[in-house]
Amino acid sequence: MAEPDGPVLEVRDLAKLYPLTQGVVVKRRVGAVRAVDTVSFALRRGETLGIVGESGCGKSTVAKLLVSLERPTAGTIHYRGNIQMVFQDPYTSLNPRMTVGDIIGEPFEIHPEAAPKGDRRRAVRELLEVVGLSPEHLNRYPHQFSGGQRQRIGIARGLALRPEVIVADEPVSALDVSVQAQVVNLMERLQDEFGLAYVFIAHDLSVVRHIADRVAVMYLGRFAEMGTGPEIYDHPTHPYTQALLSAVPVPDPVARTRRTRILLPGDVPSPANPPSGCRFRTRCWKARDRCATETPVLAVPSGLAGPAAHASACHFAEERAEVRA
Ligand code: ADP
Ligand code: MG
Repeated sequence: MAEPDGPVLEVRDLAKLYPLTQGVVVKRRVGAVRAVDTVSFALRRGETLGIVGESGCGKSTVAKLLVSLERPTAGTIHYRGNIQMVFQDPYTSLNPRMTVGDIIGEPFEIHPEAAPKGDRRRAVRELLEVVGLSPEHLNRYPHQFSGGQRQRIGIARGLALRPEVIVADEPVSALDVSVQAQVVNLMERLQDEFGLAYVFIAHDLSVVRHIADRVAVMYLGRFAEMGTGPEIYDHPTHPYTQALLSAVPVPDPVARTRRTRILLPGDVPSPANPPSGCRFRTRCWKARDRCATETPVLAVPSGLAGPAAHASACHFAEERAEVRA
C-alpha cells in the first residue's frame, strides 16, 4: 500500500459520535456526544506521537478507533502492518483468572500463525524476558504482581504479534510516580529494539515530554495544536496549550518566577453540546466574534517562521506566538 518510508499509520478526518438515547424499552435518539471530531495525523516508523488532554476530551475514543474496538462515524484510518493496544489500568485489563503465560500467549490463540503450537511456551518466555520479567513467572496470576509488573505483562501481550504500532492509552497513569519512569524507559528501549511507532496518550504534558517526538494537544474532541516537543513546549501558539503548560510544575526556581499560572474560567463544556466555531472560545481570554462563527482548522499559520510555525487550530495563532506563558 505505502512506500517503505511512508507513514505506518495515517488518520484522516476521524470522527466518532455516540448517540444519546432516552427511554428504557423504546429508545429514542435525543442527540449525540461528539467524542472525536475531524482528527487527522500521520505516524512514521519508530516515531512517538503523544496525545494529551483533560479527562473526557476523547483520547480513549481515538485509541479505540485506531485499534478497531470502535467504528468511526466518519473518516479513514490506514495502517501498514499490525497495530496493538496497551491499556490504561493494568489492574483491570488483565484477566485475574488467567496465568501470565496464558495472558501473554492469548494473541497466539487468535493468530496461530504468529507462533507454532510447540513454540508458544518459548515465545511467551522470550516476551517476559524482553519486558524485564523472569520467565519463571509464567504460571503466576496477575494479583501476584505489582502495578508496574502488571503493565510490563500488558506490554508483553501487546508485543506478541510483533506490531508496527502500539497505541498506549495512559499506560502509566495508574502507576506510582516512581514506577512510571521505569515503564516509560522500558517502552523507549522496546521502541529502539523493534522500531515501534507509538501513539502515547497521557493526561498531562509532563508525562510525554521525554518520550514524544511530536505532541498533539486535544480539547473537546479536536486537536488544538500539534508539533514537535520543542515547538509545543517552548513555542505554544494555542491558548489552551499555553494554559496547560502554565500548570506544569517547573523545577527551576528562576524560570518559575518568570511564569504566571493561567487559570481558565468555567468548566469544559459538554461534548453533547459543544460551542460553535472554536470549541475553546468559551474559556479563552482572547476570543473574539470570529471565534464563535468560524471553526479554526488545524494548520500551520502562514505568517509564522521557525519553531512557532507548527499546526495550531487558533485564528490568532500568529499573535499568540508572542505571548509567553
Ligand atoms: P478521555 O479518554 O479523553 O477521558 P473518552 O474518549 O473516554 O475521553 O470520552 C470522550 C467523550 O465521549 C466523553 O464525554 C465520554 O463521556 C464520551 N463517551 C465515551 N465512550 C462513550 C460511549 N460508549 N457512549 C457514550 N459516550 C461515550
Ligand atoms: Mg481515557
